[in-house]
Amino acid sequence: MINLVKVEISEKEMRAVNDVLKTGRLVEGPITSALEKGFTRLTKSKYAVATNSGTSALHTALYAVGVRPGDEVITTPFTFVATANSILMTGASPIFTDIDPLTYNIDPMRIKKAINKKTKAVIVVNLFGQPADFDSINVLVKNKNITIIEDAAQSINAEYKGKKSGNLADIACFSFYATKNLMSGEGGMITTNNKSYYLLASLFKNHGQTKKQKYRYVDVGYNYRMTDVLASIALTQLKKVKLFTIRRQKIASAYNRAFKNIKGLKIPHSLAHLSHVYHQYTLRITPGYKYTRDAFKDYLFRNGIQSAIYYPYPLYRFSHLAKGKIGDYPVSEQITKECLSIPIRPNLTAREIDYIIDVIANA
Ligand SMILES: *Cc1c(COP(=O)(O)O)cnc(C)c1O
Repeated sequence: MINLVKVEISEKEMRAVNDVLKTGRLVEGPITSALEKGFTRLTKSKYAVATNSGTSALHTALYAVGVRPGDEVITTPFTFVATANSILMTGASPIFTDIDPLTYNIDPMRIKKAINKKTKAVIVVNLFGQPADFDSINVLVKNKNITIIEDAAQSINAEYKGKKSGNLADIACFSFYATKNLMSGEGGMITTNNKSYYLLASLFKNHGQTKKQKYRYVDVGYNYRMTDVLASIALTQLKKVKLFTIRRQKIASAYNRAFKNIKGLKIPHSLAHLSHVYHQYTLRITPGYKYTRDAFKDYLFRNGIQSAIYYPYPLYRFSHLAKGKIGDYPVSEQITKECLSIPIRPNLTAREIDYIIDVIANA
């Protein structure tokens, strides 16, 4: 079976973990600091704060920008649940708006309609590794007291008009969960250019203590600290992130060339001014195709290729998140029924790539 995910752990990662264990500095030591520095460099952001997951990074970022109970935060319903759950963790309400039918990212025109006096922030997800339309979104909130949070869990090293993901909005959150383009098993990172957000994030993720004074508690806080053990894996991977990205993009180009003329099968739409990092390579199986989406998934499985539906349900369908009605989100409804992601990890072999192309081209 050609799996969607196969983590990339080389001797280098093993040595890095071993080195940390030998030093005895296991939590928020020099390796966590080095990883933070690496992220300021990669994204050209002023500040970075490591956390123990992408979800805790989002919760921390929402706190740092001042989201509090009763506020509304606009986001996309076509994303992983953590995006929306992090809003509930603050006591605010997620407000879902529909997506763009080509990129599957949040549609700026719909955000515009959802903004009201209670709107405190917007979480914009760069879905599957492709940055959203940040120029349009940043204009929408100009002169309003609304913060834009970039959910960059899937978009490390992506670019939007020459700027790196992680530096496209007021504050950004990364995830190093085992399936992400850069991973350490679990882990996360916040990047920002805003000093006040940086200081608030630093205290929130460490029991509400300021960086300068331990045991002086400014507010409620959590234990969202990163360990040096896992930071050492992420730091090792950070040195390879350009190679990982190029590899994913090369595989995507090969797939695009092979699949672009297949009737009813839609390849991912990638925009010219963006660098898409293909966290997922997601096909759309439209009614014109010879198989239904689910039958196509079975066909791939029978031929030894794993695929997955990201995501099978829009988030407003779940009772704890329910806000709008199904009719309000026709694009999300349609894409959840037609999407299918196939393997695109950097460690696919040339033979595996050719085989996947063959199986799909000859379906
Ligand atoms: C993975 C992911 C998260 C959550 O990150 P964890 O590290 O698993 O907590 C949040 N948002 C998106 C879009 C993700 O893909």
